[in-house]
Amino acid sequence: MNIRIGFGVDYHQLVAGRNFWLGGVNIPHIKGALGHSDADVLLHAICDAMLGAACLGDIGVHFPDTDESLKGIDSKILLDRSNKLIQEQGFCIVNIDSTLCLQAPKLKDHIPAMQAVIARILSLEVTDVSIKATTTEKMGFVGREEGVVAYATLLLQKK
Ligand SMILES: [Zn+2]
Repeated sequence: MNIRIGFGVDYHQLVAGRNFWLGGVNIPHIKGALGHSDADVLLHAICDAMLGAACLGDIGVHFPDTDESLKGIDSKILLDRSNKLIQEQGFCIVNIDSTLCLQAPKLKDHIPAMQAVIARILSLEVTDVSIKATTTEKMGFVGREEGVVAYATLLLQKK
């Protein structure tokens, strides 16, 4: 059985005046994540987990924030490109598990839409894309609503 585990983590600042993209979904909020791309912290963590499982480095190697052509890019495109990179190595994703750390807003009602977007891009079932959310009980930079964190772990299988 040729399976590989991958892990990814990503952080972004939250600032006023930005759209808040999470898991490919635009979340209505008074702040959004700051970054060179659309700053979708969940999609970035999943990209890193995919690349890591295939030992292909990290998202910054393949999509550097110094690349002007990537400025403001939709992270769904980065997710699709990362998937193609692991497919070129003969891998496909078995399942994803992830956790978002965010004080506000509540994400429960948005999670099914995120699962659907990610499953569609990666040709998975929605039940293969687990997304959980937690606050940090008002502690630290997440608790002060200064930032958002995503953790993702996934399994790859060699076809
Ligand atoms: Zn990121």
